[in-house]
Amino acid sequence: MRIDLTCRVCGGNRFTLDQQLDDCSRVECEDCGHEIGTLGELKAQVAAEVLKRSSGRSPRA
Ligand SMILES: [Zn+2]
Repeated sequence: MRIDLTCRVCGGNRFTLDQQLDDCSRVECEDCGHEIGTLGELKAQVAAEVLKRSSGRSPRA
């Protein structure tokens, strides 16, 4: 599965993470330094994306 995350400022898709990985870690665009959000927020976005993509398919229980 591939999730597309792009910087809204420069359109880049390379991101840096704080060394300490938890839901409060900030994720920043490697190209322009724009803060995308926290890792927790990204996780929520990814989860929402997965739900959106899987809608219409029968879920595997
Ligand atoms: Zn950027």
